[in-house]
Amino acid sequence: MATVPSKRVAVIGAGLTGLVAIKENLSEGSSVQCFEKLGHIGASGPTARKPPKADFPLDPARYPDYFSHYLQLRYLNEYADHFKVKKHIRFNTQVLQCVPAAQGGWTLEVQEKDGEREEHHFDALICASGALATPVTPDFAGRESFRGELLHSHHYRTPSPFEGKRVAIIGLGAPRSSNPELASSQRGTMASDQAGQSHRRKAAQGAGMRARASRAEPDDPRGLLRKVRTGVVKVHRASVEALNETGLALSTNVQLDVDVIICATGYSLTDMPYLPRDAVASRELAAPHIDLYKFMVSPWYEDLYVLGRLEVFGPHASAAEAQSRVAAAMISGKLAKPGHEEMMKSIKANRHKISNNFVDTPRHFLTVHSVEYIDDLLAPLGCAPSVGKVLGQMFRGNPIRALSLFKAVYFGIPCSGQWRLFGYGRNQKLAEATIFRIAHGEGELSKAEQEAIGAVASA
Ligand SMILES: Cc1cc2nc3c(=O)[nH]c(=O)nc-3n(C[C@H](O)[C@H](O)[C@H](O)COP(=O)(O)OP(=O)(O)OC[C@H]3O[C@@H](n4cnc5c(N)ncnc54)[C@H](O)[C@@H]3O)c2cc1C
Repeated sequence: MATVPSKRVAVIGAGLTGLVAIKENLSEGSSVQCFEKLGHIGASGPTARKPPKADFPLDPARYPDYFSHYLQLRYLNEYADHFKVKKHIRFNTQVLQCVPAAQGGWTLEVQEKDGEREEHHFDALICASGALATPVTPDFAGRESFRGELLHSHHYRTPSPFEGKRVAIIGLGAPRSSNPELASSQRGTMASDQAGQSHRRKAAQGAGMRARASRAEPDDPRGLLRKVRTGVVKVHRASVEALNETGLALSTNVQLDVDVIICATGYSLTDMPYLPRDAVASRELAAPHIDLYKFMVSPWYEDLYVLGRLEVFGPHASAAEAQSRVAAAMISGKLAKPGHEEMMKSIKANRHKISNNFVDTPRHFLTVHSVEYIDDLLAPLGCAPSVGKVLGQMFRGNPIRALSLFKAVYFGIPCSGQWRLFGYGRNQKLAEATIFRIAHGEGELSKAEQEAIGAVASA
């Protein structure tokens, strides 16, 4: 019997998204080459609370709820070693240009540090080069006249260079915000309050009930709210009218005299210099609108997948993992890719939905609710949990265990394991073990998880 030749897949970027894309495509039997311009994996791992990938849970004994970028990098290294993905990455190699090839697939022009330019052909292209790569600093009137220091938060590392200085920070919100609407004087800023995400919320909506968003604890690991309350940080609800020699003039007629201005004013989400200019940008609407089916599949170019280029109300890692599973299944042929018309219809319907659900700002054009988005993405692979599927376990196994699982999935903390219980690519034993461990608030990986991870490692 003739065997189908495996697909050659290029992955651009070895950050959190690229690593899981490599792993998922390898699992599908494709051969994968990743190009990473840096000399290491995990480019932008900020201080954050990021749920891990479903098939490699974080050990709470070794990782606190909020962990630093050092620990984030450690987790990614452990993930990459566990799934043996590093040998598929070519480090210090930048992708300069990607062109659709006449025979199908993509031709990539790449260059290793201090090396010659080379060309390589692949059947499919996965762009995982990060959404937060091109900082945007608004063109404030009078910007040149400011005598102090002005920088984008992208280049901020530690507070020590600013000690004793008067600092204004423009922008308060998720790091991708691009609307300068608030300036604070003195010191640091960054707060967000994420609307609760869960299958319960989704199920309630599906049943036509008014879902009460369970509010998560405000994401305030550095005590910003306390500093605001005690006046250490002063918040101005205003927009910046202009910069001048000594500082900023606000729309509230307040003049802030400062030594440093840090612009936390977001990133360009559509800037992908190595792709054709019309590959991602919407052909109907201005940037940052994009034409990507489910925020990841190009309806215009064959075999082009753009992952991680969205704003998730919830953890980025779970969405990146779901996107990678779908891309890998489409590339291998396991999952049929919809036709152009269907994709465009879905893109337009989605735009309409977003404009009804979110504030009309550029940042929100690319925003999704994580549980809803991942369910929708993975439904064609049969991986989205449903009340019927979870409770159906009662008739196939231990009813008490099935009820506990239902409680954990619908009333507990959502975790990536919920999308590994059923369907294609399921890893039920590990998924259940992780869901129960989280539900019971255990402080270390359970024995069942360790056994299941070990089984994966030796597979
Ligand atoms: C301040 C801040 C706070 C954040 N907080 C959170 C949070 O709390 N929770 C959360 O889930 N997410 C958070 N994020 C988002 C975070 O960026 C993502 O979670 C995650 O790091 C993105 O991973 P990625 O792999 O998509 O992109 P990246 O980590 O940016 O990786 C992209 C990789 O592609 C490489 N690359 C780019 N261009 C090329 C090229 N042409 N050729 C070769 N290689 C290339 C880069 O070098 C990089 O290694 C935060 C981001 C910031 C900046």
